[in-house]
Amino acid sequence: MSLLQSDTQLNRHSYYEASAQRAAALPALAGSHHADVVVIGGGFAGLCCALDLRKAGYSVALLEADRVGSGASGRNGGQFIVGVASGQAPFEAQGGHAMSRRVWDMSLEAVALLKERVFEHRIVCDLATGYLTVADSPRKVRALQADAEALERDYGFSTRWLQGADLQTQIQSAHYLGATWEPVSGHLHPLKYVLGLLAAAQAAGVQVFEHSAVTGLQRGATVTAQTANGTVRANFAVLAGNCALPEWGPQVAPELSSRIMPVGTYVVGTEPLGDAFAASLLPGNSAVCDNNFAVDYFRRSADQRLLFGGGVSYSTATPRHLSDTMHRRMCRVFPQLAKTRLEYVWGGFVDITMNRAPDFGRIGGNVYYLQGFSGHGVALTGLAGRLVAQAIAGQAERLDVFARMQHRSFPGGRWLRTPSLVLGMAYHQLKDLL
Ligand SMILES: Cc1cc2nc3c(=O)[nH]c(=O)nc-3n(C[C@H](O)[C@H](O)[C@H](O)COP(=O)(O)OP(=O)(O)OC[C@H]3O[C@@H](n4cnc5c(N)ncnc54)[C@H](O)[C@@H]3O)c2cc1C
Repeated sequence: MSLLQSDTQLNRHSYYEASAQRAAALPALAGSHHADVVVIGGGFAGLCCALDLRKAGYSVALLEADRVGSGASGRNGGQFIVGVASGQAPFEAQGGHAMSRRVWDMSLEAVALLKERVFEHRIVCDLATGYLTVADSPRKVRALQADAEALERDYGFSTRWLQGADLQTQIQSAHYLGATWEPVSGHLHPLKYVLGLLAAAQAAGVQVFEHSAVTGLQRGATVTAQTANGTVRANFAVLAGNCALPEWGPQVAPELSSRIMPVGTYVVGTEPLGDAFAASLLPGNSAVCDNNFAVDYFRRSADQRLLFGGGVSYSTATPRHLSDTMHRRMCRVFPQLAKTRLEYVWGGFVDITMNRAPDFGRIGGNVYYLQGFSGHGVALTGLAGRLVAQAIAGQAERLDVFARMQHRSFPGGRWLRTPSLVLGMAYHQLKDLL
């Protein structure tokens, strides 16, 4: 099964699609158009970039293959988190502490920017703050404490250590031995947020076309994006298509696709639990994520369901018995939910890089790309979009902090890279279990 089919199929059962209001589809691109910048992809990254470019005075056409927010941005765990998926280690190793410090600071800026955009554009998206990283074994407790100490010592970022009765004030689960809590990160309804960004981009004058998959990109002094029924000629192109870019447009930027790998991750939504029961599970209404290699991540929704994410798959087919598996995972954390029904099950693909560090940069002088958020993109995409907009406006210095990062291709090419990744992942998951 192709990535696109399974993506679409799973999205039908998304709690987010059921609880947000979508307007009618925007028209598909037809005929010849011109713009200063053509943005490919209508997720957080593409929309935030388009919005900033338009505010800076550029004319922008944004082409989305499906509906805006139909990719990872409209179906994720909704957790906006400081830092990057890889942690700081690859940046420390490749660029030293000064580079790593800048990346850390920009990750804080990304979270602040998300809140600022929600506020500025009055996006009603159930935003709440508070973030708990939980550890489920003595080894994971030691690792979490070491990480927290390093963040405080090297980056001045404080978290609160919780265990025993203190931990129970945030989470009613005997599964975890300790946790760090911080008030900067948090959670929101990602589809409401992405639709709010769309409204803001349209109000600013961005031309948005849905059902307009870009199948080819002619490069040169200007670029021309080609869809089934139209073209956009522009001075710059921004590739913000995430894992689906190689699927919709294999010829658009083939040199990029071997550096990311689509990995499936899944989320379930329970039936409404009622205020008191939901609050008893997560009294602080924080978002939660564990520090295992294949993470469990969960939170309360605004209508008091538990949204529980986890599980990974390296095939693009939907795993068999997905609801049962997810229900078991959820009950391992909250046995109180044994009799609770799941009303929604969905999933999507995260674009992981070999070292889990984000992969931003340019091809030639006028094609920019943003990929490799590695499951940690709700906040960072918004800043990445801004960095590209700034680079197009002639200030590339901040984008280049990321663009200097060396990324390796997954060995084995398009079809054979999966087995090597599975082996690597299995090793880490086994280590977590032991
Ligand atoms: C199930 C799940 C849970 C997650 N949970 C979290 C979380 O809790 N916290 C967190 O920080 N991150 C999380 N992530 C990751 C986060 O959602 C992503 O990093 C982020 O949404 C990526 O945004 P994007 O704009 O780069 O890509 P997307 O949102 O995927 O947008 C890309 C868009 O480009 C379009 N496109 C692709 N190719 C073409 C083409 N050729 N022509 C036109 N359009 C094209 C696609 O249709 C898509 O709409 C999760 C991801 C998933 C799937």
